[in-house]
Amino acid sequence: MEKNNKSKNKKNKITKNQKIVLILLCILLLIILPISIFLIFSQDFQVKDFQENIELNIQEEFSDFSGNVCYGGLLKCENVNVTKEGEVDSTKVGDYEVTYKYTYKDKVLEKKQIVHVVDKESPVITISSENLSYCPNGKLRDYEVKALDNVDGDITNLIEIKAEEGKLYFSVRDSSSNETTEIRDALIEDKDKPVIILKGESTTYMKQNSSYTELGATATDYCDGDLTSEINITGTINTSKVGEQQVTYRVKDKSGNEASIVRKVYVYGNNDTYTPNGKSIYLTFDDGPGPYTEELLDILKKYNVKATFFVTNQGLTKGYDNLILRAYQEGHTIGLHTNTHNYNIYTNETTYFNDLYAIQDKVERITGMKSFIIRFPGGSSNTVSQSYDNGSHIMSKLTKAVEAKGFRYFDWNVSSGDAGETTNTNVVAKNVIQSLGNNSTYMVLQHDIKNFSVKAVSQIIEYGLSHGYTFRPITMETPNVHHHINN
Ligand code: ZN
Repeated sequence: MEKNNKSKNKKNKITKNQKIVLILLCILLLIILPISIFLIFSQDFQVKDFQENIELNIQEEFSDFSGNVCYGGLLKCENVNVTKEGEVDSTKVGDYEVTYKYTYKDKVLEKKQIVHVVDKESPVITISSENLSYCPNGKLRDYEVKALDNVDGDITNLIEIKAEEGKLYFSVRDSSSNETTEIRDALIEDKDKPVIILKGESTTYMKQNSSYTELGATATDYCDGDLTSEINITGTINTSKVGEQQVTYRVKDKSGNEASIVRKVYVYGNNDTYTPNGKSIYLTFDDGPGPYTEELLDILKKYNVKATFFVTNQGLTKGYDNLILRAYQEGHTIGLHTNTHNYNIYTNETTYFNDLYAIQDKVERITGMKSFIIRFPGGSSNTVSQSYDNGSHIMSKLTKAVEAKGFRYFDWNVSSGDAGETTNTNVVAKNVIQSLGNNSTYMVLQHDIKNFSVKAVSQIIEYGLSHGYTFRPITMETPNVHHHINN
């Protein structure tokens, strides 16, 4: 009996559970069925796998999304007609909007897509320098380094270099923030000497008993920068003593690299033409410029020889002013000879200075430089002035007056003979060469308005250079070459 009861109970239980399941199924069916029916028979459709945002690498080809639409509750899919609007320029970084229009039966579906054209390629840094180093204080050197980017091109100017603990970091970032860093081992060292530059000339000439002014020097060092205040100057100039004297400038950088430079000062006696640094030739040319001055400048340029031009403003110089400028720009000295080259300038001091100031002004107009280096027409020893000065001994007065006004006058001690003795090129050259000896100062008189004289210059230069002479332009420091005054 007991056993029967048990099985009866069990049968009742199962029936109860089945009832619950059945009810649930009915409810579910009631919900799903209408939806399914609606979806299956509706004509609404969806685009399958559509991406609203896609990323495209620069230069990569953009392929359109094809028209695969699904309907019937995504149960059925097929290709449909798609039209597309909007362009993508895959050569330029940026966001592009593309609109797709899907047409299925009578319905149209529009979908928008954003295409992000991106650059993910990093720039390439190329370092060509070998043996890299930087200064102990961290200052960088010049390195041969380049940066190229697929989009931005050459971005070498954007490279940033950092030095740290024996390594150099070269970094660069392109416009899309792609960054590249190259790291190299580098020596921390400074092997460069400072560079000393003298203020004033490195070789100077001084009259005995004049006063020496120390102009000093500047010093710069690659690693340490301005070291001018560290310069140590030794040697004093005693101008009562004739001869060569020296001042030495020394400076050391922080790594112990030392540089030194010497200034030579030549003190010459008042009546000396002493230049102990060898035999010097001062080529001087009077009366120009003229038709042959250009030829002369070409010759001087060929040998890199500097000369002195005592210029005039007489009629035949017309049209050649540009050669005064060229001579000046090429490092020659522009001296003043006379404006008119008429000896009536020796009538009195006023007539002389009016003429001198006229040529001084002309030279200044052409070159921007006021010249105080002069040569008297006929030289300071001329006697032709006696015909104009009414016995006033004009040359004795003028030689003092010009110096009082800050001018320096130069005569010559080598005559080429081109003023009348000869018209032969070889004779002019021979006259000059035969006058050269072992003295220290040779001041040669020639005229660049005479072609045969200009043509002798090459021979004179070649002889001088091959016999240990130095060719120099006259400067305000050039020792005196003065004639005796005869008037
Ligand atoms: Zn002259």
